[in-house]
Amino acid sequence: MPGGQVPAGLIEPIGARRVCMRGTAAAPRRCVALRGQIGVAVSCAIYEFRPGACSDFAPLAAVGRGDEACNEARRRHQLPPLNPLPA
Ligand code: SF4
Repeated sequence: MPGGQVPAGLIEPIGARRVCMRGTAAAPRRCVALRGQIGVAVSCAIYEFRPGACSDFAPLAAVGRGDEACNEARRRHQLPPLNPLPA
């Protein structure tokens, strides 16, 4: 498994030229690489190989700083927003 490359078995096609993480194409969405219980404790099973979209998403969430997209995702799971970034 070369660095920075998602294992092929964990992706699925969406259309002719794009792929997504298996489990995220249709509701109820849950990435196949997500481990744990949302709202309790979760982790990414392929963290060091996760797609660029994942590494770009909410880069400060791990230190308690949310952004609009992060907080929207949290809202969908009935979780409170993280502290906003300072203006
Ligand atoms: S960070 Fe990991 S668990 Fe989360 S969507 Fe990306 S690949 Fe899936």
